[in-house]
Amino acid sequence: MREYNELINHCYLTGGKVSYIGETHAGYKIPMVTKGAGDVGVLIIGGIHAREYITSFLLLRLLAEYHGEVRVDVIPMLNFDGYLLSKKGVDVFPMKLKDRQALYVMNGGKSDFSLWKANIRGVDLNTNFPAKWGEGEYNVFTPSSENYVGVAPLSELETQAVYKLMKSSEYALVVCYHSKGEEVYWGFQKDIRYKKYARAVANKLNYKLKETPRSTGGIKDVWTLETGRLGLTIEVGNDKFTHPYPMRELDNLVRQHEGIIDYYTRIAKELWKTYGS
Ligand SMILES: [Zn+2]
Repeated sequence: MREYNELINHCYLTGGKVSYIGETHAGYKIPMVTKGAGDVGVLIIGGIHAREYITSFLLLRLLAEYHGEVRVDVIPMLNFDGYLLSKKGVDVFPMKLKDRQALYVMNGGKSDFSLWKANIRGVDLNTNFPAKWGEGEYNVFTPSSENYVGVAPLSELETQAVYKLMKSSEYALVVCYHSKGEEVYWGFQKDIRYKKYARAVANKLNYKLKETPRSTGGIKDVWTLETGRLGLTIEVGNDKFTHPYPMRELDNLVRQHEGIIDYYTRIAKELWKTYGS
């Protein structure tokens, strides 16, 4: 598969160490790229929502410029199946006719899948984590191109893989990339600790800082709930553009985010001291 090989090539071009955290439902291994060393680090996740694949290529470009010592783990594209569906449509998958028909139904009968957000099973991965699962304002309860929470928390291979990683490693900071809106979110429900650090990241990017008290089931949500540590959601890119965010804007996003991974590692070191006290 050309798109998959391209993703893996971009992973290696960062100069980092490539490993795999699990597999997607269509059987693609989910890559993670690591730079730096040490037990404590930063985890950055992109490409959770299919149509937001510009975040994957942004993160890999940024990681290529990171030469610090603190460990940084980047999962550039958690939802490769969704990306493929958004980019190429259903015919690219070797599936039974019945499955294709189900995908068309989830897509509202449309043959254009470019606005798809979910994984290949119609589950919105950023609603599938055990943090007030199914209680979100926009949650839906049947498979869909977006907002479907799944049959149960962590019902999906992709969410299981990243959840297991978060449980097994000592991260001081978890950052999750989406597009778009030029906004930074942090905290979960009423827990808005570490606002100072979230504010600093928003200022560095010249993005707005926003609370999301009604957000549930996301990576930032479950991370904050279960560890009490800082989790961030970054919505990259200007709202004047439509989904999928135009790839010709990638250079501009790279410039806007220059040095941000270094900045995350500096914050992570400070936070680690705070967590211990
Ligand atoms: Zn998103």
